[in-house]
Amino acid sequence: MSHAPRRPGRHFLQIPGPTPIPERILAAMSRQVLDHRGPDFQQLGLRVLANVKSLFKTKNHVIIYPSSGTGAWEAAFVNTLSPGDHVLMVETGQFALLWKVMAERMGLIPDVIPTDWRIGAEAHLIGEKLAADKAHKIKAVCVVHNETSTGCRAHIDEVRKAMDSAGHPALLMVDTISSLGVMDLRHDEWGIDVTVSGSQKGMMLPPGLSFTAVSEKALAASKTAKLPRAFWQWDDMISNNANGFFPYTPATSLLYGLDVAIDMLNEEGLDNVFARHERLAEATRRAVKAWGLDIWCRDPKYYSAAVTTVAMPEGHNADTFRKLVLDTFDMSLGTGLNKLAGKAFRIGHLGDTNELTVMGALSGVEMSLEIARIPHKKGGAAAAMSYLAVAMAAPEKKLAAE
Ligand SMILES: *Cc1c(COP(=O)(O)O)cnc(C)c1O
Repeated sequence: MSHAPRRPGRHFLQIPGPTPIPERILAAMSRQVLDHRGPDFQQLGLRVLANVKSLFKTKNHVIIYPSSGTGAWEAAFVNTLSPGDHVLMVETGQFALLWKVMAERMGLIPDVIPTDWRIGAEAHLIGEKLAADKAHKIKAVCVVHNETSTGCRAHIDEVRKAMDSAGHPALLMVDTISSLGVMDLRHDEWGIDVTVSGSQKGMMLPPGLSFTAVSEKALAASKTAKLPRAFWQWDDMISNNANGFFPYTPATSLLYGLDVAIDMLNEEGLDNVFARHERLAEATRRAVKAWGLDIWCRDPKYYSAAVTTVAMPEGHNADTFRKLVLDTFDMSLGTGLNKLAGKAFRIGHLGDTNELTVMGALSGVEMSLEIARIPHKKGGAAAAMSYLAVAMAAPEKKLAAE
């Protein structure tokens, strides 16, 4: 047994997923498991399958797998595509890269639009690629809504418009694993064909559930798609789900939590949820700028509401800094992934987070910058407080101040 010294108070889990779980959700999940073929489960199944649609703003089916988000990525491919199909992808960062690697492993051919990993997917570049694809070899466009490694978002409505202007029939697949319940998402209105998401980020749940919203067009594609699939077969899910059941054992305890998570987001109101995340993100960015540090995302148009990736000043290692923060203040910050390893750290401000938790996090970062003797200006936390005070006194002023 380890005898680590007691750490009083709450651990600050400020990584961009998994995120802290509200007490109400923890309580809902700590119940006995139930017969997943019985009547009580059926009620739960019918309810969560119906209610989860509100989060995607869809009337279509949402599939819930007992898997992490990566499973839903795979399901999106194997249900709609055939070996050798081209998929257009934008390499915005580590998660887009992993999705591309998966496409290759599945026998698909990714056509990749590169970036410098400091911007979100740009709709006009997607439009140009599609316009040039006269033969319609590209079968799907895959976009990461919120690139969790870099703190850059994509504007999915613009991507849709670019696809329509190009008159291209490719399916639109969107990864919303770290944006569902954080930033607006309109599966139906934006003409998304497959929206994939996960439980452990904006949804405030433990890891272990993935979500897939599918369009009629995606369902039609699944009738002719030839990639092999078994566990991920949408058809089996959809036919069983019609009665509230699942083709194999669902993650029953997580579904109790999901039931409450959906309620909590709708009780707050999705627009308020999104506004809160934008506010906390803006406060965080004001702190970073006041410290004189660089926000990794280089174009404000693409700033993420879920996470702020902060560039470490030359000559300082971000992971050494993160260790100091953890040891000193019991706070976990996100590590720099892949190309950003050692060069950047990430402040998660998504999920069950509010003004004071973000202020706590920013205070911890500011004190740690001082302890680590990292060149910076003081007053970042104060700048965030000033912003939040105005925003909270009169929420409508928030927009003017931005
Ligand atoms: C976390 C994340 C993933 C991976 O999800 P898992 O649940 O770890 O499989 C994929 N894409 C994005 C954008 C993410 O944030």
